[in-house]
Amino acid sequence: MIKLFGTADMEFSHRITIIVTIAVGIIVSMIGAINALLGYSLASVLGAFGLGLISFVLYGFLLKGRFIDFARWFVPLLFVMVVAPYFWIVDGGTMGGFQYFFPTYIVASAILLRKFGSKRVLIVVILNAIVLAIMLWVEYNNPDIIQVNPMRGARLFDMGFSIWLAGFGSFLMIMSALRAYEQEKEKVERLTIVDDLTQAYNRRYMTSKIQEEIDRVDRYREPGFSIILLDIDKFKSVNDTYGHDVGDQALIHLSGIIKDGLRKSDKFARWGGEEFVIFLAQTSIDGAKIVADRFREIVASTPVNEYLTITFSAGVSHYKDGDDVELITKRADKALYASKENGRNQVTVLD
Ligand code: GH3
Ligand code: MG
Ligand code: MG
Repeated sequence: MIKLFGTADMEFSHRITIIVTIAVGIIVSMIGAINALLGYSLASVLGAFGLGLISFVLYGFLLKGRFIDFARWFVPLLFVMVVAPYFWIVDGGTMGGFQYFFPTYIVASAILLRKFGSKRVLIVVILNAIVLAIMLWVEYNNPDIIQVNPMRGARLFDMGFSIWLAGFGSFLMIMSALRAYEQEKEKVERLTIVDDLTQAYNRRYMTSKIQEEIDRVDRYREPGFSIILLDIDKFKSVNDTYGHDVGDQALIHLSGIIKDGLRKSDKFARWGGEEFVIFLAQTSIDGAKIVADRFREIVASTPVNEYLTITFSAGVSHYKDGDDVELITKRADKALYASKENGRNQVTVLD
């Protein structure tokens, strides 16, 4: 079935943009037809159909999921710079219903702007004020181009439509501003929890994740979690033999393998240098050993490049009543040490 207003998996603001765009297309085209029937000037008929066409083309792209970031700004700008001035001129200027568009748009945007704040919204509000000033100037100097609609009902319709359009326009702008703000925030948050080189989580994130999970397990008596601490074998000699860049490449390679192989509820972090921690939610120690061995085998059998293959050693520990972050990682570290002592490229468990 064709979904006229987008599909459920689209973001809310995307769907709103689609709905507004098609609504504007339909209404503007209808007004073009009415203008033609009333025998208004050719410019007012073609202008309306032109705007309708732009809206429908944009609508088609939006349905396919294209240009959404562009449309979130373009649609309000289209309102401010083209649709509103057009209606102003064909529908009576300061005598017509559409004069309500400009002040409504400025007031609605300014209120929302105060609440959410965004430079881009401010730009549209300023543009709106400029267009309003230009319109007043145009009308003052060329009173003849204004076509006053003699019907009271039509003027009331224009008034309602202009206020509706202004309200939705500012709503769209705010959705767009909020999205930009959230993306920015996400980016900043990401920077503080992700390791630059490997794009794995960093130690700070993993520490708080483990702490959070300890609190949860204690509170809700959920099945405990396990952690795997792993350390690349003889990594110093990788650096010494092939150089630091190849060493870095190996770290990225290993991280890629583990990230690809984890469940969503599991987390993977760079603990420091060439040591990593894998957090396995609600996983027994036996389950964790199986996971660790699976990764160990994949890493040992997937070359980093044509002349280098790495291995790692790992220690596995499982949450015990009374554990804190330090205790559980210390046990994993002890187990890791045993793996190194026993010849590397192996997994040791310490419950
Ligand atoms: P073992 O099998 O006992 O773990 O031997 P190892 O050589 O891996 O152990 P060691 O801890 O002595 O060496 C770790 C090396 O990891 C030392 C350091 O140069 C290297 N290293 C740490 N961080 C980075 C990094 O970000 N990039 C690269 N290329 N090397 C790193
Ligand atoms: Mg080490
Ligand atoms: Mg090492």
